[in-house]
Amino acid sequence: MAENKEPNTAEPRGLNFVEQEVYNDLQEGKNGGRLNTRFPPEPNGYLHIGHAKAICMDFGVAEKFGGTCNLRFDDTNPVKEDVEYVDSIREDIHWLGFDWGDREYYASDYFPQLFDLACRLIKEGKAYVDDQSSEEIAAQKGTTTTPGIESPYRNRTPEENLDLFLRMNAGEFEEGSRVLRAKIDMASSNMHFRDPIMYRIIKHPHHRTGTKWKVYPMYDFAHGQSDYFEGVTHSICTLEFVPHRPLYEYFVAELADETYCPRQIEFNRLNLTYTVMSKRKLLTLVKEGLVAGWDDPRMPTISGMRRRGYTPESIRNFIDTIGYTKYEALNSVSLLEHAVREDLNRIATRVMGVINPVKLVITNYPEGKTETVEMENNPEQEGSGTHSMPFSRELYIEREDFMENPPKKFFRLAPGGEVRLKGAYIIKCEDVVKDAEGNIVEIHCTYDPETLSGMPGANRKVKGTLHWVAAATAVDAEARIYDRLFDVENPAAEPDRDFREMLNPESLIVKTVKVEPYVAEHAAQGTKFQFQRIGYFTPDYDSTAEHLVFNRTIGLRDTWEKVQNKN
Ligand code: ATP
Ligand code: MG
Repeated sequence: MAENKEPNTAEPRGLNFVEQEVYNDLQEGKNGGRLNTRFPPEPNGYLHIGHAKAICMDFGVAEKFGGTCNLRFDDTNPVKEDVEYVDSIREDIHWLGFDWGDREYYASDYFPQLFDLACRLIKEGKAYVDDQSSEEIAAQKGTTTTPGIESPYRNRTPEENLDLFLRMNAGEFEEGSRVLRAKIDMASSNMHFRDPIMYRIIKHPHHRTGTKWKVYPMYDFAHGQSDYFEGVTHSICTLEFVPHRPLYEYFVAELADETYCPRQIEFNRLNLTYTVMSKRKLLTLVKEGLVAGWDDPRMPTISGMRRRGYTPESIRNFIDTIGYTKYEALNSVSLLEHAVREDLNRIATRVMGVINPVKLVITNYPEGKTETVEMENNPEQEGSGTHSMPFSRELYIEREDFMENPPKKFFRLAPGGEVRLKGAYIIKCEDVVKDAEGNIVEIHCTYDPETLSGMPGANRKVKGTLHWVAAATAVDAEARIYDRLFDVENPAAEPDRDFREMLNPESLIVKTVKVEPYVAEHAAQGTKFQFQRIGYFTPDYDSTAEHLVFNRTIGLRDTWEKVQNKN
């Protein structure tokens, strides 16, 4: 593009529909040309991959058009909320690669203004105190085809309503005994307009405001106004809020004018196969000990994925791939896993680990001799270098890589056959040693000393290449092999089954893996390894120098052939 200080009037291409709406508003000069979004989590649980979709949208659109994005904790229900969640939410957003600068806000910051607005609406005859129970109120709601019934308390005077509301907040009445409702229209075709509840009594202390308030605003009364108080111009949320939008606009209209008015735009939420995304269900898994915590690597939480070894780039790439629409959908978790593999393939250091070992002895290799061979760290990354790996007479290979009576096209090791040990020599199987039960305990081979890299036989072709580690120097590590937490494709679509019954009993299998010394020496938190032919691994938080623990982030799919052909 040419140097051009004029405002860019060319319409950017490839915008999703939300970005297009935002762009149009900016073009029209709405809100004085300002763009301010917000991400509004309720601190009642850890963030999950669905939230990541919202985060990428809220922060992404602001970045794209030079606006800002606030982090606003939607802390209007003290019973369920906790600072532990606030802290985790901050950490997860940063880890995903987004920053809200000094714009960290809390809906509870606006309790005074919201309360004032409620009092004003009462005085204007637009809100009333209802003494009925929530059950009675629900029973009067009507249906989409029949109008609701007006509350017997609907026509109280503003004076009486104000007096009662102030006393509600003074703690005079029990929880559930009274609510404040907006006086709108019990016959409205939009159910949300049938005198929605604005405030309820809660006597549980709030994690920020303590016992100051005894009444707390409902989502519909808090959200739009909080947007307004904060200067938010675009309040982007998920499709279930479409029917709430008229109410959002109704309340915001009490504050806004033609110079500034926030607007709500909705996109489809992320649903993933073999996953539950409801915070209530995730909390149940944690509370009942069905997983090891919110950051259990099998959880769909951001913290779980981080612990498992997913990268922020892979999550963002996945979200880019699925995009934003106005239609609910169920996305395949394989797409996410694909994005994870792609990124790890790019960055992970290639190493050797043997997960189901059998001893292999090279009978013509001198006893007591050790040499080192050089291993490429990452063929996908130029300049990533090599590391050395010890080679000696006794090694481990995978049990599955040997067959005594192989079928045709078995290109691994078999009696009389040859394979290359990756990065080292070509070996030939001469014999097997069995125990009394007939189990193979050792495989005896000879090696061709001319086949190491740089030697005359280096390019001699054999069909198979095996990974291996030297027995004497191998280090035992715990390997946690994860699979999907649920074994039902769409757990949310099975309302008659308890979701606990759909848990995959094999979602975690613990094994011991024999790793090359380099792995033990480089097992710092956050390191990404590819254990060749087995999968991508990262050290778990439980890992120590004495007891190494690795999470398998994800398996390699169909890479066997690639490894074979590359030597
Ligand atoms: P709750 O049932 O507790 O309200 P929630 O998942 O809606 O759960 P919030 O903390 O209210 O949690 O969500 C914060 C933001 O994240 C909201 O704007 C919400 O629309 C968005 N969000 C939540 N779940 C998803 C999802 N699966 N896909 C996309 N966005 C989501
Ligand atoms: Mg919500």
